[in-house]
Amino acid sequence: MTQEALIVLDRVNKRFGDHHVLRDVDLTVSKGEVVVIIGPSGAGKSTLCRAINRLETIDSGTISVDGTPLPAEGKALARLRAEVGMVFQSFNLFAHKSVLDNVVLGQVHVLKRPKDAAERKARELLDRVGIGGQAAKYPAQLSGGQQQRVAIARALAMDPKVILFDEPTSALDPEMVNEVLEVMTALARDGMTMVVVTHEMGFARRAADRVVFMADGEIVEQDSPDGFFTAPGSERAQSFLAKIL
Ligand code: ADP
Ligand code: MG
Repeated sequence: MTQEALIVLDRVNKRFGDHHVLRDVDLTVSKGEVVVIIGPSGAGKSTLCRAINRLETIDSGTISVDGTPLPAEGKALARLRAEVGMVFQSFNLFAHKSVLDNVVLGQVHVLKRPKDAAERKARELLDRVGIGGQAAKYPAQLSGGQQQRVAIARALAMDPKVILFDEPTSALDPEMVNEVLEVMTALARDGMTMVVVTHEMGFARRAADRVVFMADGEIVEQDSPDGFFTAPGSERAQSFLAKIL
């Protein structure tokens, strides 16, 4: 892993009305690094991911991706969204498009890739996530685990610099969790830069380079998975782990 910074958050603050949901958040994610973010519901984990993708504005501080401060609008914003892939809990596939088209459309419309090249890439990626045989189907005809793998293929199709995963397995039936985590583990091994919000501690131990623990809008502590899980430093992390492990 190189130490070159890809994502840098510097004293980021976000409020929803009176509710201060990100408090002076500093976070650097290096190229090739896998950062797992854990913490209780309401900690601000989703807001943090959404801010990095500029699905959410921030009130103060700066966020930069690959040396460029987040753009506000227009073409630069579309490019940012291509560079920063996002996989959501609820899949967010286009329901009225085939699986293949779900992976093709962004390539054609945002990256201006020729349709045949985009289809070739989409088929390769669907194979890579283990659902090459489902290309002609519609999302509703697939299981949740398969839909989430389509969403991962769709993110990869944009050649992103980083992919943010926001609780990608939380909406899945238990028997489908592993097939998605296996795809994510393979991506991590291949060197993809990833920020993963998850409650899957096995995945965190296996795939994370660093675990970041958030509570009440703050990064409370961060450490290697081994360091964090064997000896969390803060009382808040200890009590969180005691509840979920
Ligand atoms: P997490 O993902 O860690 O559960 P979130 O980032 O979703 O936390 O939310 C952090 C806090 O911000 C929560 O209290 C949530 O209710 C609040 N919040 C999130 N989005 C909005 C919004 N659009 N409007 C108002 N409050 C919000
Ligand atoms: Mg969330």
